[in-house]
Amino acid sequence: MPAAEIGVIGLGVMGANLALNISDHGYEVAVYNRTVAKTRAFMAEAGALSEKIIACDTLEALVDAIRPPRPIILMIKAGDPVDQQIAALQPLLDRDDLLIDAGNANFRDTIRRFKALEDSGPTFLGMGVSGGEEGARHGPSIMVGGKRDSWQRIEDVLTAISAKYEGEPCAAWVGEDGAGHFVKTIHNGIEYADMQMIAEIYGIMRDGMQMEPAAMAGVFAAWNDGPLDSYLIEITADILQTQDDESGKPMVDMIVDAAGQKGTGRWSAIESLRIAAPAPAIEAAVGARSLSAMIDLRTKAEAVLGVPGQGEFDLGATTLDLLEKALLAGKVAAYAQGFSVMAAASKEYGWHLPLPVIARIWRAGCIIRSRFLDDIASAFTATPDVDNLLLTPEFAQIVTDTDRALRAVLAEAIRKGQPVPALASAVAYFDQLRRSRGTANLIQAQRDYFGAHGFVRTDAEGEAHGPWHSEE
Ligand code: NDP
Repeated sequence: MPAAEIGVIGLGVMGANLALNISDHGYEVAVYNRTVAKTRAFMAEAGALSEKIIACDTLEALVDAIRPPRPIILMIKAGDPVDQQIAALQPLLDRDDLLIDAGNANFRDTIRRFKALEDSGPTFLGMGVSGGEEGARHGPSIMVGGKRDSWQRIEDVLTAISAKYEGEPCAAWVGEDGAGHFVKTIHNGIEYADMQMIAEIYGIMRDGMQMEPAAMAGVFAAWNDGPLDSYLIEITADILQTQDDESGKPMVDMIVDAAGQKGTGRWSAIESLRIAAPAPAIEAAVGARSLSAMIDLRTKAEAVLGVPGQGEFDLGATTLDLLEKALLAGKVAAYAQGFSVMAAASKEYGWHLPLPVIARIWRAGCIIRSRFLDDIASAFTATPDVDNLLLTPEFAQIVTDTDRALRAVLAEAIRKGQPVPALASAVAYFDQLRRSRGTANLIQAQRDYFGAHGFVRTDAEGEAHGPWHSEE
């Protein structure tokens, strides 16, 4: 009788830590990695946990080591490697074995794989995992998509290994086929916006206020005791007070300002555009990362255009309080947008995404974990059918309380040439959202003028046209 209850394929950063986490919770786990040397190194470092881990050098050995019906987690590079791995496993697996892709797959690939395996098997689940290396080892946030009864087959192990927020597991089934990977994608899109807004505030402090990293670390650490309390603010404080042993300078000052990106932020922005659910803060964050990578261009532009306003950002004695409130306001806009993209996608793909559950499983384990997400979970639980987070009484109140600060910070930043693309997108979003009569009437008139696209009159139903070309 095979001993293992579950298998893990891929012993990279995430897979290795997930396998240790699973065995740490008392499950016998079989592991396999394409490069066998990595399996050996993993076993050598697993210590006492290696007694509950079965190392397998071939896929056949892995399949033989797991009790059927076999749950197998794939934690390998996303994209073609996943298709190749499924193709190699398919002949070895039974119809009711359960293959769980836990990498950062594009949800469209997950839908395709789910459909392709629906008749032939094995059963397929797409699972978003967040929390990086630490999360994988000690408790990630887990978002599962696929058939609900497939999730129920591995619910015990996934809830056991997940992060806990005040005892509640941060793992849940969120919908059919690609829903889990979609939710993970939007998680990452929100993460991009949150990080960009923090970086914009850091930029104001560093360049506009000429603050040293250690002083900024103190400010972020203090903010972490208030409404901004979150993992990202906590690590920002920690990063800013870390010294580089080689140069003796603050580590942050020794890092080239060109941000990497692997695609999930961009996918979030693309999907929001595709389903017409605007997420300008996420778009701004993706754009800012792309511009950050164009160092040559920025260097040339600095020589031609100059850098305005160094050290001139000043809003008086309450500047830091205003920055804190502005960051909170921006964060509210970014999360409202991310959740509204999920609400729209839920309708588009028929997923019925449970927004309060998603907020709850993001409260711990993942990169955007925060007290703020507990507030979002409460707001969506109290008002489940609300169209936008900003319409809930709790978040409408935060907007009211932070609005003046956001505008003051943005006005000063723009006057002094501080780049604030994501924060500025937040105020534009608020201002457009809350106006029942905007300016698209002019756009409709223009469209009708040059293209006879028609418009709806304010005083009648049906399509109308304007008298634009009556003299011709
Ligand atoms: P690593 O680069 O550390 O490991 C990659 C793994 O994929 C290795 O086991 C590698 O095997 C395997 N692999 C690559 N190509 C193939 C292939 N063609 N066939 C079989 N196996 C292959 O990556 P991570 O552990 O960081 O990431 C794994 C997945 O998890 C990715 O989808 C990533 O996007 C996602 N993820 C990562 C997070 C992170 O913070 N790092 C967070 C959340 C999700 P080999 O050793 O043979 O090269």
